[in-house]
Amino acid sequence: MCDALYIHIPFCERKCPYCDFYSVAADEALMDAYTDAAIRSLGRAPYALAPLDTVYFGGGTPSVLGGRRLSRILEAADARFGIASGAEITVECNPHSALGRELSILRAAGVNRLSFGMQSADDGQLRRLGRLHTAADVVSAVETARGCGFAHFSLDLMLATPGQTPADIDRAVGLCGRLGAEHVSAYLLKIEPGTPFDRQGVTAACPDEEGQAAAYLHAAGALEAGGWRQYEISNFAREGRVARHNLKYWDCREYLGVGPSAHSFVNGRRFYFPRDLRGFLASGGDFSRAVDDGPGGDAEEYLMLRLRLSEGVRWDVLAARYPDFGAENLREKARRIPGGLITFDSDGLRLTAEGFLLSNAVIGELLG
Ligand code: SF4
Repeated sequence: MCDALYIHIPFCERKCPYCDFYSVAADEALMDAYTDAAIRSLGRAPYALAPLDTVYFGGGTPSVLGGRRLSRILEAADARFGIASGAEITVECNPHSALGRELSILRAAGVNRLSFGMQSADDGQLRRLGRLHTAADVVSAVETARGCGFAHFSLDLMLATPGQTPADIDRAVGLCGRLGAEHVSAYLLKIEPGTPFDRQGVTAACPDEEGQAAAYLHAAGALEAGGWRQYEISNFAREGRVARHNLKYWDCREYLGVGPSAHSFVNGRRFYFPRDLRGFLASGGDFSRAVDDGPGGDAEEYLMLRLRLSEGVRWDVLAARYPDFGAENLREKARRIPGGLITFDSDGLRLTAEGFLLSNAVIGELLG
């Protein structure tokens, strides 16, 4: 039964010039109205969920909503579904925000994991990416979080940005280590169509495919050498500190999403709220506005998601979940994939680091 909740917070202090996540400029009255609508949405959600094992506030920039509003939404989730003992409750934070008081409120409300959008340890690169924070802000945010009682946090790094060198990546990974991050997400910069960077032609200043591959493999090597184990294409964690919520996505488990642009997978159906804050507010987050996205969770989808994980697909789990799926056909296709991109044995099938770089093509080949 579904035991995961995602809440989308559609506000940012300022839009980053490469980003296409759904968010609008932070505005106090709008944020009050949104908090009320999210609470109503949770109260009226026509789904029975198990007590929540994971709750994830993503965005946008959830921290701009502030501790009190986020706590009210969390209380509403608890009142509606219950929150299981030991649940992982994560809030994404901008290191630039004035966080001290807000983080104390969140910690008191039960939030136990923070994810900071660090991106780089170099102020010049942060400026060029249009970020509002500096490397010193990241250090200060993490110290503040620790002072508020947070022991678990993740840092995001951005790879293959214009002018980034292997030494820059090493410096960023080094800072993650010094700050004691137990989890790191390392993403290649993706300039979304229609964004300011796209219009300005910044793509031409970014590394080409070969340069992106080199940056990715360099970062993966540096993170592994620093003691984080790669468990997903873009995610690395200390022993036992994988992101439980995100792991449910990759394991093709169900989750409920609340907020404009939030996706859900519940009772075998996938659906999402439109990217429309005004519409969400006007309807009080009514799930009748959600757009049906068809059935979810078939064997093909499971394989596509699981192959993002370093652990890959285990034959025994595949057979238990999908008894009618012909795994022999998959093994036959795996034998034809060029060397070095996947490994498979009597336990299962998984992509290598090089395979992760070509994951879409390799997975397409396996499932085609
Ligand atoms: S990258 Fe994050 S902070 Fe920047 S606009 Fe996108 S959601 Fe907001």
